[in-house]
Amino acid sequence: MRAQQNSAGIVDVAVVGAGIAGLVAARACARLGLSVLILEAADVAGGCVGRTELAGLSLDTGAEGFATRNDSVAELLGELGLGDDIVDPNPAGAWLRLPPLTGTDAITVPMPKLSLLGIPSSPLADDVRAAIGWKNSIRAYSDRLRPVLTIGTEKNFGKLVEQRMGKAVLDRLVSPISSGVYSADAHDLEVDVVAPGLNAALTRAGSLSGAVALLKSDAKPGAGVRGIRGGMHRLVDALLAENAHFDAELRLGTRVTGLRENADGSWALTATERPTPATEPGATEPDSPRSEPIERTVTARTVILAAPATVSLGLLSLARPEWSEASDSAWASGSAVEIVTLVLDAPALDAAPRGTGVLVASDTPGTTAKALTHSTAKWAWLAEAAGPGRHVVRLSYGRLGQDSPSSALDDAELTALALRDASAILGVPLTAAQLVDSARTPWRDALSHAAIGQRERVTALRARLEEETTLAATGSWLGGTGLASVIPDATAAASGIRRHFVHL
Ligand SMILES: Cc1cc2nc3c(=O)[nH]c(=O)nc-3n(C[C@H](O)[C@H](O)[C@H](O)COP(=O)(O)OP(=O)(O)OC[C@H]3O[C@@H](n4cnc5c(N)ncnc54)[C@H](O)[C@@H]3O)c2cc1C
Repeated sequence: MRAQQNSAGIVDVAVVGAGIAGLVAARACARLGLSVLILEAADVAGGCVGRTELAGLSLDTGAEGFATRNDSVAELLGELGLGDDIVDPNPAGAWLRLPPLTGTDAITVPMPKLSLLGIPSSPLADDVRAAIGWKNSIRAYSDRLRPVLTIGTEKNFGKLVEQRMGKAVLDRLVSPISSGVYSADAHDLEVDVVAPGLNAALTRAGSLSGAVALLKSDAKPGAGVRGIRGGMHRLVDALLAENAHFDAELRLGTRVTGLRENADGSWALTATERPTPATEPGATEPDSPRSEPIERTVTARTVILAAPATVSLGLLSLARPEWSEASDSAWASGSAVEIVTLVLDAPALDAAPRGTGVLVASDTPGTTAKALTHSTAKWAWLAEAAGPGRHVVRLSYGRLGQDSPSSALDDAELTALALRDASAILGVPLTAAQLVDSARTPWRDALSHAAIGQRERVTALRARLEEETTLAATGSWLGGTGLASVIPDATAAASGIRRHFVHL
């Protein structure tokens, strides 16, 4: 489908980036009848909602579920006709792999049930003691006895946990989650961003464990995460289909490198198109195959930036050089994550020996991966699709501030490492002979945007953007990591742009 350009070749809305933020914003504008052109650097759309085809299975390589803290994802899925395919994960829950309490071997224990981001609400509970030991549980319990006056305002998530409950809770219960979910050190995370309401609950409850108990009792029942039968990547297909239906044009392999405002108030975007023609489903075929990259200028009445932080900020600083917020280097300091997906014939995994997956604490002996998802144990639809005895496990590599242990390895070495890690983590010997297929997926822009000072940076930049009627920005770097944050943020960004046309 082609965006309907007028005789001067101007589109109403240019969207930079076809991740979920870009696709959702494009849909919101195209539905209104605006001509929309989506420019995507990669050869596939979807960004961090990636997929791979292995052993006849279509598997998520990025996001595989969504948080249910708000209804934004479920509502969108309903509008896209996927509402009946929303599924719950296996409630068995995840485990932790930790350095030994005594001796030399790592231990693997169920994650404490009553906890928030790893902070236990009952520090003396059996599952907490199994993970951190008696002595550390008593230290954690002392949080209940500490004075209330010293609490209520701490910004630094890691510091708050360590001060109130001790280093063992931080290192063994909280840090594996910070690392697994945010690819960040707990000390780099801001309390109000990762645990909204926790500081207020602290003041009410008088202790950190009490605050967690309060927040858990206020929370909606359920696992907090849901998925889509067939995989989260179906969301990308559905958005692409809707955008095509509303005549939004998608140009894959098109990297936007420049943005400037024309004298008449429209925008000139400079984009480099890759030589290889795009052939992905939903892509618009280029006019003719090309052997060289070419640079094109696109003219648009309005622009929505939906690329990751470094790209969007770079374009903003070209568009508005006077904005110091746009060039503030504190925005981006990222981590690279690599996902290794293994498909295994391993009936011993039918019993789901470690629940839905395992988060690994740093410095755990004999384990390099930072997390493992036992996908066929977590999602019943996938177990059914894979068939008896066949399993899918996903391992992730790369901790913030460390060289990724996977990047230096070739495919065979990385697969061998993943098999060793999976065997140790799942407590089941897994050999190369059982491997049906495997894939590696590096994610370079998988940043944590929950870092200290992030809220202030976002607020300052949003204040600037609010004065703009033809320029908007969205994405996880602004709205927060995860689809439940990205989707409402993209919808809000599109509303601002739509208003411009309504007022014309
Ligand atoms: C391994 C992994 C697992 C995850 N698991 C979950 C999960 O289970 N649940 C959940 O809710 N969230 C999860 N997330 C986070 C979630 O996927 C992201 O927050 C969300 O998809 C980000 O969407 P976005 O559109 O903001 O950015 P992105 O997905 O990063 O999309 C940005 C797009 O911009 C494109 N782009 C970059 N530069 C340019 C340029 N110069 N010109 C044009 N286009 C450009 C990129 O190629 C990309 O397609 C996970 C993320 C990762 C990496």
